[in-house]
Amino acid sequence: MSIQNAHGQVFKPTKNRLRAAGSRDCIRSGVNRKWVVAIASVLVAGAGLGFAAQSERRELPRPSAVMPALAGEFVVELQRAVHPSEYEWLSRALGARVIDRVRDNMVVVVDGRELALERLRENRWVKMAEPNFTYKALALPNDPELKQLWGLRNTGAADSSGQAGLAGLDISAERAWDIETGSDRVVVAVIDTGVDFNHPDLKPQAWVNLAEKNGRTGVDDDGNGYIDDVHGFNFANNKGDATDDNGHGSHCAGTIGAKGNDGRGLVGVAWNVKMMAVKFLDKNGSGSLANAIKSIDYARINGAHIMSNSWGGGGRSELLLKAIQDANDAGILFVAAAGNDGLDNDVIPSYPANYEVPSVVSVAALDNRGQVAGFSNVGVKTVHVAAPGVNIVSTVPGGKYDSYSGTSMATPHVSGIAALMLSRDPNLKFSDIKSRLISSSRPLFMLKSKVMSGGIADAYYALTGLTPPADPNDPSKLPNSKPLKISTDHPYAAKAKLEQTVVVNGAKKVAIKFGKFETEAAYDTVSFYDAKGTFVGAMSGKQPDGMTSPLIEGDRVTIRFVADETVQAYGFDIEAVLYE
Ligand code: CA
Repeated sequence: MSIQNAHGQVFKPTKNRLRAAGSRDCIRSGVNRKWVVAIASVLVAGAGLGFAAQSERRELPRPSAVMPALAGEFVVELQRAVHPSEYEWLSRALGARVIDRVRDNMVVVVDGRELALERLRENRWVKMAEPNFTYKALALPNDPELKQLWGLRNTGAADSSGQAGLAGLDISAERAWDIETGSDRVVVAVIDTGVDFNHPDLKPQAWVNLAEKNGRTGVDDDGNGYIDDVHGFNFANNKGDATDDNGHGSHCAGTIGAKGNDGRGLVGVAWNVKMMAVKFLDKNGSGSLANAIKSIDYARINGAHIMSNSWGGGGRSELLLKAIQDANDAGILFVAAAGNDGLDNDVIPSYPANYEVPSVVSVAALDNRGQVAGFSNVGVKTVHVAAPGVNIVSTVPGGKYDSYSGTSMATPHVSGIAALMLSRDPNLKFSDIKSRLISSSRPLFMLKSKVMSGGIADAYYALTGLTPPADPNDPSKLPNSKPLKISTDHPYAAKAKLEQTVVVNGAKKVAIKFGKFETEAAYDTVSFYDAKGTFVGAMSGKQPDGMTSPLIEGDRVTIRFVADETVQAYGFDIEAVLYE
């Protein structure tokens, strides 16, 4: 069985299972590792990476079991609004105990019996019922040593994994700041694990609910239904204090809007912005459907312009979709992480990034050479933009800084750019922001078949509306070509290995052009190294005929193909070396 998408990439079921683990667990991407994703208990597909997968150094996360939920809990939409004083009666009518309110017409119930969901759905008081899905923060911890904000300014220096950057491969933050550094009028809701507003870089950026700040403790001073919600609300622990007990939310907040130009710490994409801490992910980075809905509703009702959502992993929820649709109807941009499963969202949807709501902007993660991170989900139809998301340094609680990777880290870069755009022009509609984020992305050859924008999100071009330049590193633009015949066996053998160095005397740049190319996606990989032995990029999966390697600086390239023991495909035929 295989599944093929519109770009000719083939997705095959894989053989060995790995069980999903906690959000912070990850596996090293050994070539023999396989993973599977189960949807509604049917085994659907395996790794769907095509071009530019991952080097040996990258980490591939374990995939989420697609529909994790709190055992015995359900979110129930009722036929009409119900006051809390009616919950006792309602519990009897539903045959399930009401334990929480989500909306006026939505509650959480506990029912541990078999077929509880079916029973609820058949109840005359119920419009819709779903498991209380759980979501998780989409980040992987990594080496905290390096204090370089390559996403904002890429000098070409190595990141914390030792991978040399591509100078200028960033969101053009410095050029953007000449035009706009942000405005206190713009409110970004960080829907996450909370935000540590005691961090010196974040303290001045807190959204403040003045009535609560100046009000009395334990009283809902502004009458919005939430007590002591001074800087947001904590739905994970049901209290006003939304301080971060995990680190993930503060890290995201720092990328969006750590205070700039204050002579200390680091800066966010927007130097001036107000961030609302809406916490529904707990100290372990996980949270429920019910609390996700409450968070989106809270941010909508209390004046957020942009919602930054670096979480996912739950199943498709019609109830969550409604909350996002309501935020859409209120004109609020919903920026969402594409997911960390290394899959194609066009084939296997990832939520909330894949909800078909106009305000949703789905974000993939790039490394410091402009390649899609091995863990990042892609999808030319469903993932709108790409942004820096590998070895990103930002703020964490306790006044500290740390380096994380994930589509979680790419998302706040885009939320920050949107905040700059809205600061510049408060009349922009979310649809304008979204379409401009896509059209103003700087084209990168490697992203053409990966994300809708075909490039890296760019703050400068987003603000100016100018047309971004073509990719200067597009290998297909190299002027010269020499025939070169290197092929694998067809199909290649189990554990096949092939290594060859190609030299073009006097060349400044080279690239390898393939005829046919088809290997097992993500596992049987061709990697490219420059003269110094630095990893430059990788290819795997099924590629269109005539596909080229990334551009390699210098007169030589080492091509290294390694296959694992399972799934032998056609292999490849090299046709030519391109050079300048
Ligand atoms: Ca209040």
